[in-house]
Parts: sequence; C-alpha cells; structure tokens
Amino acid sequence: MTSTPTTKRFIAGAVCPACSAMDTIRMYEVDGVPNRECVSCGYADTLDERGNSVPREVPTRVTKVKQPAPATSQTVQFFPNPRLKKK
Ligand SMILES: [Zn+2]
Repeated sequence: MTSTPTTKRFIAGAVCPACSAMDTIRMYEVDGVPNRECVSCGYADTLDERGNSVPREVPTRVTKVKQPAPATSQTVQFFPNPRLKKK
C-alpha cells in the first residue's frame, strides 16, 4: 500500500478569495484532487478537473438545472375599456 502523505504547501502570492489575505492559502491533494485552504479564515475549496473552484461548503453535488425562461411570448389580452375613454 503506497499512500502519499498529504503535503500542504503554501502558495506564494495567493490571495484568499474569502478574506483577501495573502500567503495564507495552503494547497494539498486528496486522491489527486487539489484542495486549497486558508489558514487565516478557514476558507476551503476544491479544484475540479477544469481548475474551477468548488467551495467546500457544498455538502453534496446538487445539480441545479436552471429552467430557461419560456420562450413563448405571452399573449397579452387587451380589453379596450370604454369606461377609460373619458373625454
Ligand atoms: Zn481566508
């Protein structure tokens, strides 16, 4: 069994996206997935395969499918109200 020990190394010049502190970001890998954590505020996130930041606060992967707004134009019913036609 070869398990690589988790090495946490600081990223020089990295700015925490949460508290904007510099040089507080440590990076380490878990199962080949790069993780980041801020030692200042405790912010932690994961980087996915595309390098996008995935905040750790998300407990489960909930795929929210945003339903696009219905493209069908609503038929505006226009009732000419004769009572509004005041002279
Ligand atoms: Zn921070």
